[in-house]
Amino acid sequence: MGIDSKKYKEIITGLGSSVKLVAVSKTKPVEDIRELYDLGQRDFGENYVQEMTGKQAQLPQDIRWHFIGHLQSNKIKYIAPFVYMIQGVDSYKLLAEIDKQAKKNQRIIQCLLQVHIAAEETKFGFNEDELTDTIHQFKQKNEFENIKLSGLMGMASFTEDQNLVRKEFIYLRSLFDKVSEMLKDDNFSTLSMGMSSDYRIAIEEGSNMVRIGSLIFGERVYNK
Ligand SMILES: *Cc1c(COP(=O)(O)O)cnc(C)c1O
Repeated sequence: MGIDSKKYKEIITGLGSSVKLVAVSKTKPVEDIRELYDLGQRDFGENYVQEMTGKQAQLPQDIRWHFIGHLQSNKIKYIAPFVYMIQGVDSYKLLAEIDKQAKKNQRIIQCLLQVHIAAEETKFGFNEDELTDTIHQFKQKNEFENIKLSGLMGMASFTEDQNLVRKEFIYLRSLFDKVSEMLKDDNFSTLSMGMSSDYRIAIEEGSNMVRIGSLIFGERVYNK
C-alpha cells in the first residue's frame, strides 16, 4: 500500500510547468492523499460525491478538489461549498444548476465540458453538435456569474490501440480549438485529457491537464 513517490516525482518532472497534474485519489485512503500532499501535490480528483466530501473534511483546506465523475444535479449542493473544478459537465442544465449552487455559496466554480470521444457507448459527454449548440447558448444567454467555463475534458477508448487513442485526442484538441475560436475568452484554457495509460500521447496532442490515478496510488480494488 501507500503511494509511489518515486513515480510521482518522475511524472511531475516529466510534465514540466505547462501541464497540470490532477492526482486521482478515488477509492484511496486519506493517508495516501496526505502523503502526496506532503510532497507538494495540491490538485486531487474524485468521482463520487460522498467520498469526496468525506475526504475534504479530513484534509488540508488548500487542496483543490476536482470532481471528475458523472455528477447528478441534485448532488451539486454537497460539493459546491468547496469544489474547485467540475470536469464532467455534460449538459447546459447542469451548468445552470452549478451556477445556482455556486451563487448560494458565494463562490466561483470552474467547469469543463465533457466530450464523448471514445468508441465505447458507455462513456458520458457531448458529441460535437451538442457541444457547439451548448457553447452558442452559453455565449448568447451570458447568464452565469458564478461559474467559469474553463475548457474541455475527454476520455479516450480503453484499448491497446494507441493509434485510436491518439486519433481521439487529436479530435478533442480540434474541438478545443474550435470552441476557443467561438468563445474568445481567456478563461477557456484547459484541455483535460490523459490518464495513467495514455497521458504521454495526450500531452503530445496538446493536453495541458492530465488526470493520473493508478500510476501514483497503485491499482484500485473495487469491493463495493
Ligand atoms: C479514474 C479516472 C482517472 C484516472 O485513471 P487511472 O487510469 O487510474 O490513471 C482519470 N479520469 C477519470 C475521469 C477517471 O474516472
